[in-house]
Amino acid sequence: MAGAAGSEKSVYVTVSVLDAGHITLPDYLFVAGADPNVRTTVPSLSFLVQHPSPPASRHANVTNLVFDLGVKRDLSSYPIAQQPHVAARRPIITDPDCSASLRKGASNEGGDRELLNPETEIDFVILSHVHWDHIGTPSDFSSAIFVVGSGTLGLLRNGAGPYYPAEQFNPDELPVSRTVELPPDPSQGSSFQEYYAGQDTPVHTPTPAGTQAKLPSIADEWSWQPFGGFPRTIDFFGDQSVYVVDSPGHIYGHVNLLVRISDSKYVYLGGDCCHDTRLLSGEKEIAEYDDGRGGIRSVHVHTGLAKKTLAEIDAGINQLRQEMDVEVVLAHDKEWRERNRHRFWPGKL
Ligand SMILES: [Zn+2]
Repeated sequence: MAGAAGSEKSVYVTVSVLDAGHITLPDYLFVAGADPNVRTTVPSLSFLVQHPSPPASRHANVTNLVFDLGVKRDLSSYPIAQQPHVAARRPIITDPDCSASLRKGASNEGGDRELLNPETEIDFVILSHVHWDHIGTPSDFSSAIFVVGSGTLGLLRNGAGPYYPAEQFNPDELPVSRTVELPPDPSQGSSFQEYYAGQDTPVHTPTPAGTQAKLPSIADEWSWQPFGGFPRTIDFFGDQSVYVVDSPGHIYGHVNLLVRISDSKYVYLGGDCCHDTRLLSGEKEIAEYDDGRGGIRSVHVHTGLAKKTLAEIDAGINQLRQEMDVEVVLAHDKEWRERNRHRFWPGKL
């Protein structure tokens, strides 16, 4: 595929930011060389992407897509085996969660008026990955289609290796009849085997024949293709407005979103590709620490693959920036949130 510009009739989306809980992270787990005594309370952001097309399953002019659901409103509903990790991330703020932010907007801007109903008006939920601080409360989105990276359903059912035992996940977290895994990337096969050699990598779950998931009509043709400098993307609506970007390494099935908001600007939603923008620019390195099993680990399931992904994202963004503006937003970027409160839903980027 050619560069970013040049499509005959360009389609743009809007992006609004949603508070979806806050958690507290020790800095030294994320950025090499950070002060071991410093812990920072950071957001776990969600995003509302509005696409100017009528959804398949209801009468409306706009398709509503939410990227990531943040922290669960009810912390006691995490699996018991996950509870010690959650406790270690306190203080945790769960109000507002993603649903409350959709309904009320930032600072209750809508007053008594409900801005968006998560049960009836959200058409798609794309999860960057299924870590506890991104999975939120999927049952709130009772008519949405969930779209996740390849291997995610297997991970929720069976876990994957020593860092991700099955008991940390709820196998019924996502509604199977309304959940679709993106295709596995065939070109990734060999490098995945190289990176994940000897690990219990979750396998792809094909969509069942009886699925209730109504996808964009282009979904039959979804496959990982290069876009600009990004080697593996899926054009979600088939009109170059929303690209899912394969971004492996953090955890199985991790994906990002690249969305076009005007003729001169994209927004890159980076999920947990890193937790500090200085890692993306190469100014800082991924922290590595004792894994408690005689080895070294990072917050990523595969540190080498996560580094390769960061380099790919940086190159992809820099290539796009030769033509237009690209704003990068990471899920846990506290400083970005503080600078951009005026752009939270019902505001937009
Ligand atoms: Zn994560």
